Amino acid sequence: MNATIRADFPILSRKVYNRPLVYLDNAATVQKPRCVVEAISQEYYNSNANVHRGVHFLSQQATELHEAARERVRQFINARSTAEIIFTRGTTESLNLLATSAGEAFLKEGDEVVLSQMEHHSNIVPWQLLRDRKGIVIKVCPVTDEGSLDLVALTQLFTPRTRIVSLCHVSNVLGTVNPIREIAAMAHAHGALLCVDAAQSVPHRRVDVQALGCDFLAFSGHKTYGATGIGVLYGREDLLEQMPPYQGGGEMIARVSFERTTYEQLPYKFEAGTPDYVGSHALSVALDYIDSVGLDKIQAHEQQLTAYAIKRLSAINGLRIYGHTPERESVVSFNIAGIHPLDLGTLLDRLGIAIRTGHHCAQPLMTRFGVEGMARASVALYNTREEIDSLCESIERVKKMF
Ligand code: PMP
Repeated sequence: MNATIRADFPILSRKVYNRPLVYLDNAATVQKPRCVVEAISQEYYNSNANVHRGVHFLSQQATELHEAARERVRQFINARSTAEIIFTRGTTESLNLLATSAGEAFLKEGDEVVLSQMEHHSNIVPWQLLRDRKGIVIKVCPVTDEGSLDLVALTQLFTPRTRIVSLCHVSNVLGTVNPIREIAAMAHAHGALLCVDAAQSVPHRRVDVQALGCDFLAFSGHKTYGATGIGVLYGREDLLEQMPPYQGGGEMIARVSFERTTYEQLPYKFEAGTPDYVGSHALSVALDYIDSVGLDKIQAHEQQLTAYAIKRLSAINGLRIYGHTPERESVVSFNIAGIHPLDLGTLLDRLGIAIRTGHHCAQPLMTRFGVEGMARASVALYNTREEIDSLCESIERVKKMF
């Protein structure tokens, strides 16, 4: 599938330092297909106007595109209604919205939120802010040596005060796929709600919010072949109805007076201000693109490539891979004895290879594995075996320099 797919992504044929670009930083953000970039410029050239408030033609056209995008997202994750699809700036804003608003609606001092050691900072810090405001208690599910959630320990964390469990679907460091369906059942049996950080799953595997049984789910457009600046919070309608607005301003109100303001219906109650209506349309084009390639095909390709990367990387002397779970997605994190990950990343960059190094916004997980940082290669639908070969050969070259 690769030659035609790669042609859809013009940036992949550029050179860096006069070498072919090998882009393996897809867990941070993916490159955009031509159709997405063109959808953005076409909207600015042809249909740009502020949405929802205008009676004129362009405003109505832009509104139609924006609302069609909401329906497209609904379909993509199989939500029941577009009232359940809130556009945000990204996963981070989705999780902040949730912690703030669900925190206000459903949590009291002493209530408990369960997180895990493998969470991205964006699924930790918003809950800590809530802890500082409300005196809630954060409990943390440990991660095993192989990189899975310790499900026995998770069961033991539940108490009658557990209100929310918030976990990633796929770890951005270990690639671990967490058993969300089981955890949803566990959370619900204890009367708690489940939020899923799906930033690393929606681009790689079919995510069906009803089949998963989660109550909330967040993801980012820019990791899903869309533009930066758009994201989604899915929430069960009956829960969102009970939650107060996150931000105030235009778009989210029904009527304003200095004495009293009433709010718009869902999902607009949570969308203060001019939304990123170009970004939402571009996201819907990105989702069309994903479906035109086929998410099952994408997943199979990425999993084969990841397995190949693990096999090749494991053969490198002194290289340690973190995360050995049977079910995993397209991320491989590793360290090489005697080489700081930052040095490795910098030298690989000079050879045209883009990987990520550092703590990957998951410092508690770095602490868990006793390291300051890791190197991470992550693949997308357009990557090839040759690029993995190139990564491994370049690592051998870097090793010789040390
Ligand atoms: N959660 C996970 C698991 C992630 O990988 C990321 C992005 N690295 C985020 C949350 C945050 O996403 P964003 O920066 O797009 O808000």
